[in-house]
Amino acid sequence: MSKKVMLIGAGGVAGVAAAKMCQNPETFGELLIASRTEARCKAIKKDIEGRPWYKKGKTCTKIMTAQIDAMDTPRLVKMIKGFKPDLVMNIALPYQDLAIMDACLKAGVSYLDTANYEPPEEAHFEYSWQWAYRKRFEKAGLTAILGCGFDPGVTQVFSAYAQKHYFDTIETLDILDCNGGDHGYPFATNFNPEINIREVAAKGSYWVSSKAEGAKRKPGVPVEYKKAFDKGFWVETAPMAIKREYVFDQVGKKDMYLLHHEELESLGCNLKGIKRIRFFMTFGQSYLTHLKCLENCGLTRIDPIDFKGQKIVPIEFLKALLPDPASLGPRTKGKTNIGCIFHGRKNGKPVDYYVYQVCDHQKCYKEVGSQAISYTTGVPAMIGAKMFLEGKWTTKGVHTCEEFDPDPFMAALKKQGLPWKETFKPVKVP
Ligand code: NDP
Repeated sequence: MSKKVMLIGAGGVAGVAAAKMCQNPETFGELLIASRTEARCKAIKKDIEGRPWYKKGKTCTKIMTAQIDAMDTPRLVKMIKGFKPDLVMNIALPYQDLAIMDACLKAGVSYLDTANYEPPEEAHFEYSWQWAYRKRFEKAGLTAILGCGFDPGVTQVFSAYAQKHYFDTIETLDILDCNGGDHGYPFATNFNPEINIREVAAKGSYWVSSKAEGAKRKPGVPVEYKKAFDKGFWVETAPMAIKREYVFDQVGKKDMYLLHHEELESLGCNLKGIKRIRFFMTFGQSYLTHLKCLENCGLTRIDPIDFKGQKIVPIEFLKALLPDPASLGPRTKGKTNIGCIFHGRKNGKPVDYYVYQVCDHQKCYKEVGSQAISYTTGVPAMIGAKMFLEGKWTTKGVHTCEEFDPDPFMAALKKQGLPWKETFKPVKVP
């Protein structure tokens, strides 16, 4: 039953996904970690092999490493064909999604990632580019699982679970992402700084089913999704324009801000009866003040500028100055709390349902050497791979996480370090 996986990327999230695969050697027999800088792959291998839970001998996951630039499709295809994995996991950056999907199609291997495609030259992400691969994956008999981290990822599994067990129709969904952790730096990001800053500096938006003031139709939706999208509109806001206060279980009171987020797009298509979906993330005042200042100085710009006769992209330069998210583990204390609040109907009666997961930064550090943001992304990525390899999530084509059976995934979250809680008490986001 044990299978072979090729993992691309060697950052904070990839390190956790690799560690968790090695805790499940009965499924993950061989693991090739390949990334742009092979030294980081080797460091992950060394760290895992020194952990007390790493089983040595016959039942352990055999770890190998390699150097690859994932944008070099011919070399990547050759590497995939040489290793012959059952699944390629892309845990590098969203910029590489399409190149790796192309390589998977050429090599005849299924695909999983944790973030949807984003072109480097435009701070904009949406599913249309990857949904456009659906027919090709179906025709090749392959599966692509998109956005299998926490949000996106678990938030969609939570939604599928709510829809399957508790609702006939879900009318509103609020996704709340709270990081109550403190790393002690004046400014640092918990995952790749470039992707993180591009996401939070963008305009906010939420999805509504009927035309509201200022709502506009989403452009570029592929034909097969057009019908579902004909019922929906986006309402755009200025960045961080909508702020709410919320008291999070085991974290306390936090300010949270409405952001655009990728799972809104697919959930707008896939939830029955949905009328509104919003996404909120918590930020401290210090983070926002630093971000504003960096923005005002031009350091978050993504267009190349001339510097002493050289072209540099300010946000890439800023990334080089900021702490590596993978290094925040020992310093980060506190908890995260991420969950979904649903209101809807079952058998004609109103239903309230809140499902969430609380994760402790230091507990993650002790187990796998990482902070909770990488942990809450890397664990679901491993579970998604496990679901595929064990034949539970194998629908051919290109799919987001709410399109699969949520039950085995929800059970695995409890076993693999991300136990969740649920309540049917009415919970309101103001
Ligand atoms: P990091 O920046 O820590 O790591 C990215 C890794 O990708 C690095 O090892 C980097 O190599 C490698 N890489 C970059 N470009 C290439 C390339 N062309 N070829 C091969 N390897 C490459 O990022 P994180 O670990 O924080 O995040 C990983 C992914 O997870 C991102 O896509 C992020 O958006 C996503 N994410 C998803 C979340 C969710 O809940 N769904 C939450 C958090 C993150 P090098 O070492 O040389 O720099």
